[in-house]
Amino acid sequence: MPVPAWVPIREELRDEEPYGAPQLDVPVQLNTNENPYGPSDETARDIAESVLKVATSLNRYPDREASELRASLAAYLGHGLTADHVWAANGSNEIMQQVLQAFGGPGRTAVSFAPTYSMYPEYARNTHTRWIAGRRRDDFGIDVDAALELIAAEQPDVVILTSPNNPTGTALDPAHTRAILEAAPGVVVVDEAYAEFRRAGTPTALELLDAFPRLLVTRTMSKAFALAGGRLGYVAADPAIIDALRIVRLPYHLSAVSQAAATAALRHEDELLAAVDALRTTRDETAAWLRDRGLDVAESDANFVLFGTFEDRHAIWQGLLDRGVLIREVGPLGWLRVSIGTPEEMDAFRQALLEVI
Ligand SMILES: *Cc1c(COP(=O)(O)O)cnc(C)c1O
Repeated sequence: MPVPAWVPIREELRDEEPYGAPQLDVPVQLNTNENPYGPSDETARDIAESVLKVATSLNRYPDREASELRASLAAYLGHGLTADHVWAANGSNEIMQQVLQAFGGPGRTAVSFAPTYSMYPEYARNTHTRWIAGRRRDDFGIDVDAALELIAAEQPDVVILTSPNNPTGTALDPAHTRAILEAAPGVVVVDEAYAEFRRAGTPTALELLDAFPRLLVTRTMSKAFALAGGRLGYVAADPAIIDALRIVRLPYHLSAVSQAAATAALRHEDELLAAVDALRTTRDETAAWLRDRGLDVAESDANFVLFGTFEDRHAIWQGLLDRGVLIREVGPLGWLRVSIGTPEEMDAFRQALLEVI
């Protein structure tokens, strides 16, 4: 439904819809790559007590620089990073918007490689950044020669690489990341929202920060850290890049409640990340099971699996939903994405899929 004519919205937004996966109240929710295991009572109590401590001073604005939280995030990341190398915001979505506000904008270009995260073009639109999408190979890896050609032709101010990629699960070949970093004239963002789920031996772009000062690596507490509801994303980069981001942030963008909750959650890193190993095992089992059914399955280093292909993927998606299993209709035509849930949830998914196909 277009925005009514009397609402004086920017014309290019008039026919747009607010973005988002359906939030449906069904028994098995495997559509937004959330962690199925929530914080324990003990961790929840620590979060609540930390919030209680700041509650009595909510008459004051929060620490604008989120210093304690940034130091905790830097300690978690390791790689010799300090609070000055880290910036935090309300989800890595807000980080990405700040990146485009600072480094994109009118007359500037951002490049990414599709199929990839469908939010990027929206941040580009909202920040008046010109958006160019290159194509990935058929196996969803980056075609590095085509990527370098595109970068040479467009001279993008921002390149966004996603590793592991959403919705395909594909991790970047580090040689490709390096080649793109060497060629890109502007900043290169590697979105590592799913980094903790990568298979053993898959490197993180954090290792390249020292060599490439225009590299930004974004992370989130929404997935592996089981804190999607807490809205906490962050980025690691050279301190001068972090200072550039601080120029465009809204004053007091990160509430005292968010800062306290995230800092407390980080104290329980071991517990919150404990489920990651189990989820990786379930992911590999799910991928193998789908392959045994004769389906195509994209290699996944994330907590979801892209599978297909179906002549009428919507019918499959609807059939699953009718059986109480919500997955995501996303990605290239014919493919579907299922987030990895508990073994019981994956059982329900498998049963429903067998009935539908
Ligand atoms: C889920 C996801 C994010 C995280 O978003 P938050 O705002 O931190 O919840 C970022 N990038 C990609 C590719 C994602 O899939």
